[in-house]
This record gives sequence, structure tokens and C-alpha cells, in this order.
Amino acid sequence: MSGRVPIGAIKLGWPVVAARLCVCLLVLAAILPGPASSAPHWESKHVLVLHSFGRDFRPWSEYALSIKAELKRQSPWPLDIQEHSLLTARLNDLEPEAPFVDYLRSLYQSRPPDIVISIGAPAARFVQKFRTQLFPDTPMVLTAVEQRLVDHAGLTDNDTVVSVHNDFSGFFGSILQVLPDTRTIAVVIGASPLEKFWLDEAKKEAKPFENRVAFVWYADLSFEDILKRAAALPPHTVLFWGLMSVDAAGVVHEGDLALRSLHAVANAPIFSFQEAFFGEDTVGGPMHSIAESSRKTVDATIRILGGEKPGNIKIEPIGFASPKYDWREMQRWGISESNLPPGSAVLFREPSIWKKYSWQMALIAGVILVQGMLIGLLLDERRRRRLAEVESRQRLAELAHVNRYSAAGELTVSIAHELNQPLGSILTNTETAELMLKSSSPNLDEVKEILADIRRDDQRASEVIRRLRSVLKKTPFEVKDIDLNETVRDVVGFVMTLAEGRHIALKYTSTPTELRIRGDPVQLQQVVLNLIINAMDAISGAQVGKLEIGVTTSRSGAYAEIRVSDTGPGIAVDDLENVFNPFFTTKPQGMGMGLTIVRTIIEAHHGQIVVENPPSGGALFTVRLPVARGRSTST
Ligand code: ADP
Repeated sequence: MSGRVPIGAIKLGWPVVAARLCVCLLVLAAILPGPASSAPHWESKHVLVLHSFGRDFRPWSEYALSIKAELKRQSPWPLDIQEHSLLTARLNDLEPEAPFVDYLRSLYQSRPPDIVISIGAPAARFVQKFRTQLFPDTPMVLTAVEQRLVDHAGLTDNDTVVSVHNDFSGFFGSILQVLPDTRTIAVVIGASPLEKFWLDEAKKEAKPFENRVAFVWYADLSFEDILKRAAALPPHTVLFWGLMSVDAAGVVHEGDLALRSLHAVANAPIFSFQEAFFGEDTVGGPMHSIAESSRKTVDATIRILGGEKPGNIKIEPIGFASPKYDWREMQRWGISESNLPPGSAVLFREPSIWKKYSWQMALIAGVILVQGMLIGLLLDERRRRRLAEVESRQRLAELAHVNRYSAAGELTVSIAHELNQPLGSILTNTETAELMLKSSSPNLDEVKEILADIRRDDQRASEVIRRLRSVLKKTPFEVKDIDLNETVRDVVGFVMTLAEGRHIALKYTSTPTELRIRGDPVQLQQVVLNLIINAMDAISGAQVGKLEIGVTTSRSGAYAEIRVSDTGPGIAVDDLENVFNPFFTTKPQGMGMGLTIVRTIIEAHHGQIVVENPPSGGALFTVRLPVARGRSTST
């Protein structure tokens, strides 16, 4: 065989092979994208944004920012956004427009933009005016423009308008609703042709309110003068901020800075329907919603870039959104929430101090709570201590009472002696008087003298009993204003006979005038009694020459002093510290409670007691008690 032929080729022949090739090509054509009929998705779209007053001129700058951000978010294509600013509206000079047109034309000659978005009225006017020279076939979206400033007759099929409607009258009405006492609305609008247009429009729409409120128009003032006026506005005036691009003096203003300086000096609230100024300088009200305009602009732009005819996209002029108010400005100008139109939102509410400093407040509250509890505990503790003190004083009073009985026991002889003497004299005198009266001619003068003696002796006996009762009285601890001299004198008198019986000279020297202190006389008598009995015991038990006890009262500064000294042996140096301790005694029958009771009584009177062995010999006890306030006593 000459050469081998493939079996298929022999069997199918060339027409079949050609048919198979065609099928393959068709499948490939279906799989692969078509020719240039639809552009690839990754090809970027050129967007030209034209600003009216510059890129940072509010409120339009806010519209531009919002539109660009929204566009980037929604666009299925990569975007090349190029921005230009038309400043002629601010400079009030249209001359430079021609070279600007040339510049743009040469810039975009080779590659015109896919869409032009004009922001604000001057940019809309410019693109409409120069459409044929610049971008005859490029679709355009005129946005952030008031409907009255659009050249509706000049619109083409390639244009879409996203306009707003400045409802001056609605806005003035809302001002009067929130501040019903308003008497004057001062309107700030500049002097450029565009501002003059708006001034006339605002004046027209203010007409229906002229019977309710006066309008003051600042259009023919320099901005400097406007600031001066705004700083000294009469009460019940509000400022309406329209636009300040060029003032009456021809000075060009950055809208933002101008409003800020007005806000800094104005003594009245500022209202504006531009949302871009809300949040810093204005009170609020029904305003243009930047978000709504931006959303509608971006929606139209994407539809146009996707191939839709701009002329078919019709958007109604956008009115004000629901009112919004700045809480801080409301507070500043006394605007009541009840005056706001229904459905109003109040923003920038300052969080309450509890929300703002929640953890600090919680901490402070916690500290206060803990402190309160501690104070409560301390007060309770104090109350308990007081009760305990009262109780201990009662116990002390009882103990002292017992102690007095034991002292009285020691004094029995002296008391009996003291009572015996006057009673004996009374008996003798009575018998003598009877005898005298039995005689035929009694000497009545003598009888009178005898009766006077009987009376004196009776008084003496009564005095002994009074003193005894006063010493043995069982009373609760009771502080009152007393004369210390008298208290001490009572005790000295009471033990005088006992001292005499023991051949002890008991001498009492008091201050010449009253020595007023606050204290319980029964308790203080007990103190003096205990000290004197101890002194008598010390003298009696010792072999000493002179038997003397001195009791003196004196005044030393703010203190009254009682000194009890004796000529006994004194107290052993080692014992000086212990004599006030309970149950310390050197006496065979002693209880060792006398001085403990003395010290407790003195301390309960806020006083002190000290003991010493003076160089002259014996022991000296000094009691110091605070003198009663407001009393002047002298030594
Ligand atoms: P008591 O009289 O039952 O012993 P006190 O408490 O009154 O109890 O006295 C305690 C002790 O202090 C006495 O035992 C005595 O040693 C001493 N003392 C008190 N007063 C004097 C004094 N004037 N001179 C010497 N010692 C004294």
C-alpha cells in the first residue's frame, strides 16, 4: 500500500470536517465576549464635577462630597472623577469664563468625559451656556441647584436636573412657630447678582408675614456692619442666614467663615435651611437634605452611565426634609420642645451627667453609699457608746452610793455626837424653862432667851440631818450649775465633828466669791468626803505631830480647783501611780474603791485629779474641774 490515510478521513470526507469546525467556532463565539458592542466592565468612567464657588464653599462642598462618596460606593465601574471650580460667581466677573472654556475644551478634546455633574446654580448656568462648545454629546446632571435658576428652555435630551425648592415662606413660618414671640427677622444675604436674585425672591415670600413680624434686610451693608448690628440686636429678633458670597462693600466671603464669625458675635439665634450649616451655627428647622439630593443625583448618574437617556429621567424639585433642631441652640435661646413642628428631630442632645460620666458617677455614688453606711455605723456606735456611758454613770452612782453608806458608817459616831449635843441642850433648856415658869414671878426675858437657844439647837440638829440626807441621797447622775464652794462647805461641815473627835484640825478656805461649775453636787460631795476621810485615816494611823487637814477651793484659769492636803505620812513613791487603781489599799479593812470612784466621778465631769507628796509633808490631792462657761468667777 502507498501511504496510509486516517480512517476517519476516509470514512467522513471533508464536508463533515468543515461542519464540525463550524460548530466549534459557534460554541467559541458564544463563550467569548462579543466585539466592541459593549465596553468591558473594568474600563473606568470619566466623571467631570464642576463646582460653583470652589471646592470648600459650603453648602455646595457638602453636596459634592456626599455625591462623590455615594458614587464611588454604588458605581459598578472604576471611576476617574475630575473636579474643576468656577469662581466667577464669587468674583462677580464673567470675563474669565471664555479662557476657562478654552482650557476645558483643550483638556477634554481627545477624551471627553462620560458625564458632567454641575454643583450649584452658577455651574449649572455655565454648563448650559457652553454645552455646545464644550461637551455637545456628553450627558449632564445639573444638581444642588434651585429650580428657579435652571434654564429650563435650554435643557436638551442629554440633560437631567436634580433641583431643590427654596421655600422661604415655609421656613419663615417655621421660625415663627418655634419662637412665637419673634418681632424681627434680620435677613443676611450678600450683594452678588445671584444673591440679589435671592433677596428679591425672599422679599416676595416674606410679604404674607409682614403683618406679624418686621423684616430687616442686610443686603446693602458691609459684612463688618452686619456683624456690629448682629451683636446688638433688640430682644425677640432672629437672624436668617441666606448666602454671603460678596457683601455690599464688594468684599468676597468664604460662606463658612462668615457664618462662623456671625455666630460668634450674634446675640440672637441664626436660622438657615441649608443642612450644611446645621450642627455648628444654626438652630435648624425644615432644611434641604444633602443625602436625598445626593442619592437622587447618584441614581441618575449611574442610570445614565449605564446607557439610559438623560432626558427620560425626570426628577421633581426636592423640598425640605423633616425638620431637625440643634438641642444646644434650643437651650441657648430658650426654645421649648413643645413649640417644634410635629415630627421634628432634636439632635446633639447633651447626654445627662449620668450618661456622660456614668462610671465616675457610679463610683462617686458607691463611695457616698459606703460613706453613708460608715457614718450610719459610726452614729450607731456613738449612740451605743452614749448609752453605755449613761449606764456606766448609773452604775457609778450606785457604787458611789454604796461607798457613801460605808463612809457614813465611819461617821456614825460623829453624827450621833453632832445630834446629841443640840438634843441634850434642848432638853436641858426646856427643863430650865419649865422650872422658871413654875415660879410665881418668872423672868420672861430669860425664858425668851432660853427659847431662842432651843430654836438654835433645833436648827443645828436639822442641819446635821439635812447634810446627812444630802450625802446619802441616791440620785441619778445629774449635771447642773452649782457653786463649788457651797458643795465643799457642806461636806466639811458634815465631817467637822468627826475630825474634832479625832483631834484633827480641819480647815476650809474657799474663794471669796462663788465658784460656778457644771456638775452633780452629790457626786462631788462624795469626792471631797472620800478625800477628807482618807486624809483623816492617814493622819490617825500615823504617829505625827501636827494633825491638820486643809481643804481649799481656788480658780486657776478655766478651771476650779479643790485641794485636800494633810499632815500625814504621804503616799509611798511606788504607790503614787496605783492609788487610783481599783482594789488598791494599804488599810487592813480597806476596799480600795474610794479613789477609783473619785477619779471616775472627776473624769465624768471632764476634770482631772492628781496626787503628790508636797515638800511640806503629807499628801496633796488636787482636783481640777472646768468652770461653767459664761460665768465670771474670781479667786
Ligand atoms: P481604801 O481607803 O479603802 O484603802 P482608797 O481607794 O480610798 O481605798 O485609797 C487607796 C489607798 O490610797 C489607801 O489604802 C492608802 O494607801 C492610799 N491613800 C489614800 N489617801 C491617802 C492619804 N491622804 N495619805 C496617804 N495615803 C493615802
